[in-house]
Amino acid sequence: MEIHSHIDEQLETDLLVIGAGIAGISTALETAETGFKVILLEKEPFVGGRVSQLNQYFPKLCPPSCGLEINVRRLKDNTNIELITLCEVTNIEGSPGSFTVTVNQKARFVNNRCTTCGDCVPVCPVERDNSFNFNINKTKAIYINHENAYPQKYAIDPNVCLGETCSECVKVCKYAAIDLQQSSRQIQIKTKSIVWATGWNPYDANKLEYLGYGKYPEVISNMMFERYSAPNGPTKGKIIVPGTNKEVDKIAFVQCAGSRDELHLEYCSSICCLASMKQAQYVREQYPNAEIHIFYIDLRAQGLLEDFYTKTKLDDKIYFHRGKVAKVFKNGTDGQLVVEAENTLEGKLHQMKFDMVVLATGMQPNVPEIGVQVNPVFDENGFLIPDNELGYIGCGVCTGPKEVATVVQESTGAALKAIHQIKGGK
Ligand SMILES: Cc1cc2nc3c(=O)[nH]c(=O)nc-3n(C[C@H](O)[C@H](O)[C@H](O)COP(=O)(O)OP(=O)(O)OC[C@H]3O[C@@H](n4cnc5c(N)ncnc54)[C@H](O)[C@@H]3O)c2cc1C
Repeated sequence: MEIHSHIDEQLETDLLVIGAGIAGISTALETAETGFKVILLEKEPFVGGRVSQLNQYFPKLCPPSCGLEINVRRLKDNTNIELITLCEVTNIEGSPGSFTVTVNQKARFVNNRCTTCGDCVPVCPVERDNSFNFNINKTKAIYINHENAYPQKYAIDPNVCLGETCSECVKVCKYAAIDLQQSSRQIQIKTKSIVWATGWNPYDANKLEYLGYGKYPEVISNMMFERYSAPNGPTKGKIIVPGTNKEVDKIAFVQCAGSRDELHLEYCSSICCLASMKQAQYVREQYPNAEIHIFYIDLRAQGLLEDFYTKTKLDDKIYFHRGKVAKVFKNGTDGQLVVEAENTLEGKLHQMKFDMVVLATGMQPNVPEIGVQVNPVFDENGFLIPDNELGYIGCGVCTGPKEVATVVQESTGAALKAIHQIKGGK
């Protein structure tokens, strides 16, 4: 097979899965375990997507390692799956049964000899914002997201690394695992089927200045709160009031922060109410006497998760207030945060003081960033509309907001559709 000059590697597979969050990993496993070849692409240096950033996940409130570790073991053991990280699709040609996909792979600068001993970290002289922790803290230029991150090898951020002029990490590495000369590569993949599983990004809370985000450090987003609560997070799981580092006494959760709002996200992300109720439990565990107030337009807890809501409602330290929050500001005299909301049951405007506010921001689809033809495969909010004829199979949050259990079911469906395509079906 002739390799075009600017293509560094050519690969062939039955299925290409784009995105290695819970959706992509599940689809890849389901397909590979029935005997088909799968290439799983991930744009980040590590797999797991947003679930790996959660502290615990409902309905059982288990840590993400619970589900992800089992899946990662299945991934490692399955010789039908090739995982390629730091990759983004730059072009797709063809149709179901015969696609040609071009992929750009960024350099990791660390090879498979890495044992994650960590000797390279203290000698690295530069730092980067820790995007895994939503920039709450920093890592060195050479980093790993958390101790169980997969693949189990460090990565180097080229945006801050001083390169070969420094080489301190290279000098100290006993395993010759660091190669600062690595460069990006073009890979061409021939595949019979493609599944999109590119997930979501949190809605940009910087657009919610009226709710105090970006103005007051004590106002954070729900995903930041997951990181503050997680044992592998920036505070090792201790929930503290950002900015003051004090213990939490009275905390507000602002629902629909930028959701169901035509100026921001028009749709409901469906999981934010449950996520805040879950996060209220995190607070309860660490601060049994803290007051927790949840401000909502209307509470949405789907299916079996209604039980979760019923349990939360019985908690005498968790207060529900019906009313959309109009603004969050600081009181001029005592400097405390004030949440102003109209209680729509009473028709009265209320102001309440808090030491910390968590904005329940929604999930925004990640697909358009890929740069493939937008029309007609995305809906008006940017979610992928699966189209079997064009060959757009999708699963997970890139096709619409949903929780993990539904994502996994949808991934099984995506695997079946892919197998149908691989076998020549339309
Ligand atoms: C605050 C909050 C709390 C939540 N808590 C829970 C909970 O307790 N229980 C629950 O069930 N659900 C919860 N959810 C929802 C849950 O996070 C999602 O259902 C889940 O992340 C969806 O997984 P996914 O694989 O579709 O997407 P993601 O987790 O976003 O994974 C997508 C993957 O694709 C990769 N990717 C993106 N673009 C590309 C590209 N161009 N090329 C290659 N790779 C790419 C990403 O890097 C990522 O690894 C919560 C959501 C929020 C906002």
